[in-house]
Amino acid sequence: MSLRETAAGSRPHVAELLQALIRHDTTNPPGNERECAAYCRDVLNGVGIPAELIGNDPDRVNVVSRLKGRGDAPPLLMYGHIDVVPTVAQPWDVPPFEGRLQEGYVWGRGALDMKGGVAMMMDALMRAHLEDTALPGDVILALVTDEEAGGHTGAEWLVDAHPELFEGARYAVGEFGGFSKTHRGRKFYMVQVAEKQGCRVEAIARGLGGHGSLVHHDTAPTRMARFLVKLDRTPLPFHIHPVTRMMVEAMSGSLPLPDSAFLKLLINPAFTGRMLRRMGTAGKEMEPLFRHTANATIINGGEKANVIPSEVTVNLDCRMLPGYDSEDLLGELQAIAGPDIEFRAVNFQPKPWILNMGLFNTLADIIFEQDPEGVSVPMLMPAGTDGRHFAQLGIQTYGWMPMNLPSEFDFLKTIHAANERVPVSALEFGAEALYRLLQRFHE
Ligand SMILES: [Zn+2]
Repeated sequence: MSLRETAAGSRPHVAELLQALIRHDTTNPPGNERECAAYCRDVLNGVGIPAELIGNDPDRVNVVSRLKGRGDAPPLLMYGHIDVVPTVAQPWDVPPFEGRLQEGYVWGRGALDMKGGVAMMMDALMRAHLEDTALPGDVILALVTDEEAGGHTGAEWLVDAHPELFEGARYAVGEFGGFSKTHRGRKFYMVQVAEKQGCRVEAIARGLGGHGSLVHHDTAPTRMARFLVKLDRTPLPFHIHPVTRMMVEAMSGSLPLPDSAFLKLLINPAFTGRMLRRMGTAGKEMEPLFRHTANATIINGGEKANVIPSEVTVNLDCRMLPGYDSEDLLGELQAIAGPDIEFRAVNFQPKPWILNMGLFNTLADIIFEQDPEGVSVPMLMPAGTDGRHFAQLGIQTYGWMPMNLPSEFDFLKTIHAANERVPVSALEFGAEALYRLLQRFHE
């Protein structure tokens, strides 16, 4: 059945839905998600699901819909973003906005991040509605704009301006996670339950200024340079975060010896550093889960070629483990820098850190039913997602867009990259899993 023939009583195939979403170019910036949002609303309305467009920018509207449930459980929020990252200067083998179906994959920007997830959610909701499925509680679907650039017209705005839309919800499914990852022959489904918090820090070095023709030592540029070299060579301290601990324990618990014992050493602070180094590329990927990170991004100082500046500033892009405050991070940076450098956090708004694992076992059971080899693992996300906005309302997000991927398929290397694509079978797997969740999120 093609989308044009969709009539009440039937719904497009999830892959076809994704193809149509990809064909709306929602590259952010600028986003321009309006047409894509209107399309989603029309598809939902087409099967009789109420959905409306809502936003603070007419070109960047969000779709919100609510299906009534029995009232035995708090409402469940499903959310996904419809903006995508740019494709410029990437070597694509297929046009990124054609939505091509080829060799069992849907190709195009957003296939994984995260129009594929949006298509699965819409499919699950339409199926529940068309099949008169008894929902344990209301189901709220929010398809939002601007996730890739902060959520200013999307999740952030919705949470600030219309918290009533999410009233009563305690759990959400959204980004980032649910995809399978094969490690040492075992298949793990990583489920994000927490994320790191971004914090911009300004580092300031001061020193005597003067004329560029004289001999100078220990100037502001030199002091800053010394600090940057130290920062490069001195790792910030390790912290074994509770979510990282859960993740390592879940993975090691399902591996045979000696792999399980080996992996478990990661959460023994005396061995963390050595283990990460021994793990090579995998260790590099995991390292941000064990410490705050700080990377220099913008360097400022000096205005004239013959004048020594008395001040040099460096912008540090820092990501803190959840539950820590900017003061903790500044203290760690100061310990590396010594007294030469002053630090201050810029525009840091601490977000509440919640961890409510109440829905996790239901998600893990569903995965196990559909893939008996699948082990679900709680995950800490090293970057930010819209989950931080919904956390303001006390809503725990589970990054759960389930996809059973072929073991050779590298999810993390394919998102935001050329030739982004998703197997049709993975879309069907995820749509089925989300549908099962809609039947039983009260468990
Ligand atoms: Zn995304």
